[in-house]
Amino acid sequence: MPEPGELQMVAPRRRKPPVHLSDLTLAQRRDVVKALDLPGFRADQVSKQWFGRLADDPATWTDVPEAMRASLSEALTPALLDEVRRMQADNGLTVKSLWRLFDGALVESVLMRYPATERSRARTTVCISSQAGCGMNCPFCATGQAGLTRNLSTGEIVEQVVAAARLLDRGEAEGGKGRVGNIVFMGMGEPLANYDAVIGAVRRLSTESPEGLGLSARNITVSTVGLVPRIQQLATEGIPVTLAVSLHAPDDELRDTLVPINTRFKVDEVLDSTWNYAHVTRRRVSIEYALIRDVNDQAERADLLGKLLKGRLVHVNLIPLNPTPGSKWTASRRKDEAEFVRRLQAHGVAVTVRDTRGRDIDGACGQLAAAE
Ligand code: SAH
Repeated sequence: MPEPGELQMVAPRRRKPPVHLSDLTLAQRRDVVKALDLPGFRADQVSKQWFGRLADDPATWTDVPEAMRASLSEALTPALLDEVRRMQADNGLTVKSLWRLFDGALVESVLMRYPATERSRARTTVCISSQAGCGMNCPFCATGQAGLTRNLSTGEIVEQVVAAARLLDRGEAEGGKGRVGNIVFMGMGEPLANYDAVIGAVRRLSTESPEGLGLSARNITVSTVGLVPRIQQLATEGIPVTLAVSLHAPDDELRDTLVPINTRFKVDEVLDSTWNYAHVTRRRVSIEYALIRDVNDQAERADLLGKLLKGRLVHVNLIPLNPTPGSKWTASRRKDEAEFVRRLQAHGVAVTVRDTRGRDIDGACGQLAAAE
């Protein structure tokens, strides 16, 4: 267990997970297939089965000769995620999966369905992990408490989404058949600390089948503690993902304690890179702010935050703190939450209070700790 405030910037080096077609471009997959002395176009067929039909059972790949299926599946679709537990909440509309990776590391992902209302269409969001554990050590977050085990590969990230897509496609999740709408990198890990694998996953998820899953990059949110150089780099990628920055405090003194990376990258630097991201991508950015009773929920802090964000292309998500086991902190009082919202709005800042899906299965914000 890391000491309070201790950061783990470099992931431990571990054995690499098997290479999966989700890790590879279509051209690279053809090379893998050719190395088996099979024609390259077989890679296209398997890819179409995988991402287009969401068919993980080689027995159903009827366009591929039966004799080739086993070797193609072994070379292109080795099992990366073994589901060890599935838990449901909110009448089945929230599903949390615990995955064991090839080396025993555990990660979680959460599928959340939002039925249509009079004002909005039905939505489905998948919350995925980018690392096993996390090195950022935010004291209110369950994942942060256990430290960083390792980075996930691109394939291990993509396959969390493919698994959810399959469940929805087969109508196996409550709410009937459906498709993945939004993806949020708000599970375990700091996505920008595993930059290359995360960018690879974003590209794969947002490329059309058969190369990828064909989701819109605009519907993918990358959430970060504020690794400034990586936010700058992300702005140069030319992928219109939504950036969410976990601020949690408008002043350095408090943020140093709530988000320890703030000792390296200060609030003004984090926000400068955030506004630059909004400017370059013309995308509205999100500010995440977990409301913690009597810690960061004072009216003065709401005003300070309002001043920092005023006039920017930004939306604030207030997250009622989800107390983690042993934590001395809890969520704000309703009246303080309401006052916080009111003051932000008075500065013209758009704000919503996040719902608390999956609390009873430890599947809500900051609770993904893969306890097993
Ligand atoms: N490392 C990324 C993704 C982490 S999880 C990041 O920090 O942004 C996504 C969000 O959940 C972050 O804003 C994180 O600060 C928040 N969070 C973590 N623990 C929480 C808790 N116990 N209650 C409410 N929100 C929490």
